[in-house]
Amino acid sequence: RTFEELGLHENLLKGIYAMKFQKPSKIQERALPLLLQNPLHALNNRPRNMIAQSQSGTGKTAAFALAILSRINYDSPNPQAVVLSPSRELARQTMSVIQQMGQFTNVKTAFAIKDAIPKGEKVEAQVIVATPGALVDAVRKGQIYAKEVKVFVLDEADNMLDQHSMGDQSIKAKNLITSKPQILLFSATFPDVVRNFAAKFAPAANEIRL
Ligand code: AMP
Repeated sequence: RTFEELGLHENLLKGIYAMKFQKPSKIQERALPLLLQNPLHALNNRPRNMIAQSQSGTGKTAAFALAILSRINYDSPNPQAVVLSPSRELARQTMSVIQQMGQFTNVKTAFAIKDAIPKGEKVEAQVIVATPGALVDAVRKGQIYAKEVKVFVLDEADNMLDQHSMGDQSIKAKNLITSKPQILLFSATFPDVVRNFAAKFAPAANEIRL
């Protein structure tokens, strides 16, 4: 399979070529057809959630970056995708992938990490990369318009659940997004705590195990 065969928009293919990726990695090959064709779930008329096991280094960031960038309505300036990362450092790395992939689109991105959003200001971006607590804060303060968000990614769920209260903050964050977005949950490992959390956080999901 090639990236062309996945039906990605030309502007995203250009981003992929600029990053010098030649063909989809295994996780991309498994996840992208499901995420791009987006058949609506019979029960709720929304694209199905996804739970994916994927180690760092397998190309999962590009997988969800491409899914997000494929679903943005570029005519709307409002937030449409949120990615939760377990640390500011990981948030920065994820942002860098989204920006590189999206360099031939006019996507607007922003961080919602501690101290990143000036007091009293609204986040004007289509894609927001956040840490859970900072996202909760920003939505509660009315700094993020949450009614048009259609993709919500929880990255490194196992890592998150190892950190005090980050699982709870992620649930709070998700519940504050009232548009009921599609949920994509990634985790390198799937011990029972992650499995149980994922089943509630991303119900009725397509599951991918590499
Ligand atoms: P990640 O798993 O998201 O941390 O990505 C690990 C590394 O793989 C990053 O340096 C990416 O730039 C690279 N990568 C992701 N997808 C591909 C691909 N399809 N071909 C080559 N390299 C890739």
